[in-house]
Amino acid sequence: MTLSDAITARESDLITLTQDLIRIPTLNPPGRNYREICDYLAARLAKSGFKTELIRAFGAPADSDTHPRWNLVARHEGASTGDCIHFNSHHDVVEVGHGWTTDPFGGELKDGRIYGRGACDMKGGLAASIIAAEAFIATYPDYAGAIEISATADEESGGFGGVAYLAEHGYFDPARVQHVIIPEPLNKDRICLGHRGVWWAEVETHGRIAHGSMPFLGDSAIRHMGAVLEKIEQVLYPALAEKRTAMPVVPEGAKQSTLNINSIHGGEAEQDPDYTGLPSACVADRCRIVLDRRFLMEEKLPEVKAEITSLLEQLKKTRPNFSYEIRDLFEVQPTMTEEDAPVVKTVSAAIEKVLNTQAQFVVSPGTYDQKHIDRIGKLKNCIAYGPGILDLAHQPDEWVGVQDMLDSAKVMALTMKELL
Ligand SMILES: [Zn+2]
Repeated sequence: MTLSDAITARESDLITLTQDLIRIPTLNPPGRNYREICDYLAARLAKSGFKTELIRAFGAPADSDTHPRWNLVARHEGASTGDCIHFNSHHDVVEVGHGWTTDPFGGELKDGRIYGRGACDMKGGLAASIIAAEAFIATYPDYAGAIEISATADEESGGFGGVAYLAEHGYFDPARVQHVIIPEPLNKDRICLGHRGVWWAEVETHGRIAHGSMPFLGDSAIRHMGAVLEKIEQVLYPALAEKRTAMPVVPEGAKQSTLNINSIHGGEAEQDPDYTGLPSACVADRCRIVLDRRFLMEEKLPEVKAEITSLLEQLKKTRPNFSYEIRDLFEVQPTMTEEDAPVVKTVSAAIEKVLNTQAQFVVSPGTYDQKHIDRIGKLKNCIAYGPGILDLAHQPDEWVGVQDMLDSAKVMALTMKELL
């Protein structure tokens, strides 16, 4: 049997596996049923000859006895030594939200599509990589090297209890793993080489509280923040629109530097919805915004930060009583795997062979777990490649196509054949 036939023959197995995974609601937050999904996968992969290891990210953010952060790493050894290919999928899914017409945890199969929260992001990709590995092992039992499959926690909330924890504990050491494929839903003919950088910061302006009927006796932190926002509108947004990248970022709008003002809070705290009284009359003495700045390979993080601080410093010189604080919350450097890296060249040739089309190279506007593999694991030979349509992720009636899963499983299996 050819490799391609071995995958086609597993179609109903692939469908059942995907449905079973969707039916375990691994909602994050708070991080439900992580142990259940890891146990399910461990039993499945042990039957296929994998050695499985359950790893709890003790002490990671959000890890608790009520919601422990469980991860699974499974490894299959070939007949002789050689490279190791690692398929990493996150097992957590985001909240359901409104607007569903199917059961979000039902895994319904209709017209060649499987529906459910996490169908495309990314239980479909996880299932495809398992079927690909099992078909490859059955067809080439004497292969050289090793195959690893991991199912990890918390990608949707930063990956600290998942891939970051594993990377810190040596699971992505280049001596152990040589090639990494993350089957995120990026369409079956696209290879994602990396992502833009991220900087989150909180800016706070200061004022002085006073009675709202005599605002001249106080100093409004909200008005100071208004001045900051105006500077951002007048100066920063036009400057960001000018910064274009050579990275192949999709969609088109993300081929430039972007800034989102994530939130704003000023003055009296908002009351619970059941509070029926009025606010009290006060001048706001604090106002805070959270900035979410996405930056390009061509930019340096200190320059990105200096753009904001120079605006704030200008205000300090020109605006009476203006004072502020700025606090870093989170930062990730942009990353992009070279187009001639072994995993890129092999997957791209496999796409051409299986789908009869040229592979498209893309870069993601937001980050995903590749950041930890690159920064903590020091492993550069890493891409995201998997079935499913990116735009459907996190939406109501999320689905993954059975044919797309089969096709991408064929690409993954062919990649194993070439590299092992
Ligand atoms: Zn995902």
